[in-house]
Amino acid sequence: MAAIDGLPPLRAVIATHGLSAKKSLGQNFLLDLNLTAKIARQAGDLSQCDVLEIGPGPGGLTRGLLAEGARRVLAVEKDARCMAALAEIAAAYPGRLEVVNADALTLDATAHLTPPIRVVANLPYNIGTELLVRWLTPPAWPPFWESLTLMFQKEVAERIVAQPGGKAYGRLAILAQWRTEAKIVMTLPPEAFTPPPKIHSAVVHLARRDAPLYPADPAVLSRVVAAAFNQRRKMLRASLKGVAPDIEAKLHAAGLAPTMRAEEVSVEGFCALARAVAAG
Ligand code: SAM
Repeated sequence: MAAIDGLPPLRAVIATHGLSAKKSLGQNFLLDLNLTAKIARQAGDLSQCDVLEIGPGPGGLTRGLLAEGARRVLAVEKDARCMAALAEIAAAYPGRLEVVNADALTLDATAHLTPPIRVVANLPYNIGTELLVRWLTPPAWPPFWESLTLMFQKEVAERIVAQPGGKAYGRLAILAQWRTEAKIVMTLPPEAFTPPPKIHSAVVHLARRDAPLYPADPAVLSRVVAAAFNQRRKMLRASLKGVAPDIEAKLHAAGLAPTMRAEEVSVEGFCALARAVAAG
């Protein structure tokens, strides 16, 4: 039976085009079009936006995005085997889907997109964190996107939204929350995917802040946060020794006790410290 968009069900697409999942490409496919439409809805109103999708695979999420009314979708897929299946979707939605057979780590996707842009993807787990960090640290802010709606391993999603005081809190939480409002909007069990991965997954929605939450020089903040979490069990006065010669005075200037540990310091605290360090 054809699905609501008139295209064959995803199981049939996979069988027709011989898309057996490849582990090396992080291929765990979503085959339920109700579920992919629900993920697409988490990204907000897509009708006025171009959507960048990384790793469309057989196109389940792509079809969700188009059915939910995305103005245009640019889908970047490394696996050439998926091109024929994706071309069928492009034909069903004339002028609304562009597919590029490329590696998302090297392609400049912005050249193919018109703002406003939202990024929506069921990411390959092996490159998900790397892409997120790149999107959060562009050469200039605001970035090219309005929001990122991304599937991660649940454990990575929890690190993105973590609050101070726990093991999950670290560089990723500070980077993400300084620049965006980040929320877990869905969690999915392994059985939602074909083949099922070993772990649970979660969708995180990150809406960009037009200005970072607190002022700080990004390079100094990144240096301070990296040093603090590289030795997360040590007190700040020890872990940050190499950051500034008079680090205890800088910590006091930032309102932080030198005996605190990295995971007790809020984003606001790290920004205050980065400002004190930058002030020299
Ligand atoms: N979006 C599809 C879905 O939800 O069913 C597939 C998701 S699967 C987890 C990840 C997809 O990313 C695969 O189709 C894989 O081939 C693709 N992929 C892996 N590495 C990539 C890369 N470097 N650039 C672009 N796509 C990549």
